[in-house]
Amino acid sequence: MHCDEPTATSAVIDLLNILQKNRDKDWVKRIESAMTLRIVPMLNPDGSEQYIRRNMQGLDINRDALNLKSPEAQLLKKLRDDWSPNIGFNLHNQNALTTVGQTNKQAAISFLVVYGDAAKTTSEGHERNKRLTSAMYQAIEGYIPGHIGRYGDEFTPTAFGDNFSAWGTPVILIETGALEGSSEMVLVKMNFIAIASALKSLADGSEKNFNPAVYEQIPNNTSGRLMNFVFRNASIVKQKKNGNGNGLFDVIIADIGAVAERRRAEFTAPNMIRRIGDLSAVTGLNEYDAGGFYVAGRFQPLSVGNFAEILFYKKDRQVDWSATDLEKAFPPDAIFSLGKWVKGEGVVPKR
Ligand SMILES: [Zn+2]
Repeated sequence: MHCDEPTATSAVIDLLNILQKNRDKDWVKRIESAMTLRIVPMLNPDGSEQYIRRNMQGLDINRDALNLKSPEAQLLKKLRDDWSPNIGFNLHNQNALTTVGQTNKQAAISFLVVYGDAAKTTSEGHERNKRLTSAMYQAIEGYIPGHIGRYGDEFTPTAFGDNFSAWGTPVILIETGALEGSSEMVLVKMNFIAIASALKSLADGSEKNFNPAVYEQIPNNTSGRLMNFVFRNASIVKQKKNGNGNGLFDVIIADIGAVAERRRAEFTAPNMIRRIGDLSAVTGLNEYDAGGFYVAGRFQPLSVGNFAEILFYKKDRQVDWSATDLEKAFPPDAIFSLGKWVKGEGVVPKR
């Protein structure tokens, strides 16, 4: 749906490829005789080219289901009306730092059986989708135990998933998150397995045997519990306001939390400083004990909203913090840049 949310696009192209290559197999023949698949693998190619959320008019297509001001939304509405599918899959990526319930585990995949109104009116199709989602959950949970969440079910009146359900095509939402230490391909596989399992269970009728309680018991998604990097107890060197010359620096001991910007998987993502202070309620996907270090910003002051480009100096170093080119005049013991150690990896201990 959104143009900077591409994981499921790869999965459905893999799915088409596998179905095509295995047309002589019984399991594919069963799917072929039981249903018709209609797939829009990429709703907005222009936006995908630029890796932006919106289309080239600057519209969020997924908030245009009623106004239909964008050609993409008009097309999607027309396809829904022409085909009138019995079931819809709505495929997105969510924030990589979304967590599962009250755990600090990333929600690698989240599901939602989408209602068609704010009153949460159920239907035969909605109940079937719960069983189907239980089937999808059980197909992937062995690969990513504890990393599956349930997306929030508040009704969004202008979104396509909610309106497809309202128009008679009950929707299952699949949101791909992230899994630290795993490649994007693992998440493509999880989408593939989930969708293929749904098709299989529809084709052979086993969908009827799945327990909707499995879906209902998936913990809700949570946020605010994770950051990509947390540096604990750093001594942050800060120039005093209106200060000039030596002796005008403060040292504040605090935790520093940094979050990676969303980028295409093959690009390096910049990290931004999101919080400075007591981050004892936050877990870092990568945590460092910076207690033995003075830290300073590399290109910008070390402040919330600036780049997490950080110079680390062991505390026994004598440093003139007013030096014009600090990095050159006083080479740091370690440098953190673009989400990795470009100097002194291992000097600041991992927790
Ligand atoms: Zn989205």
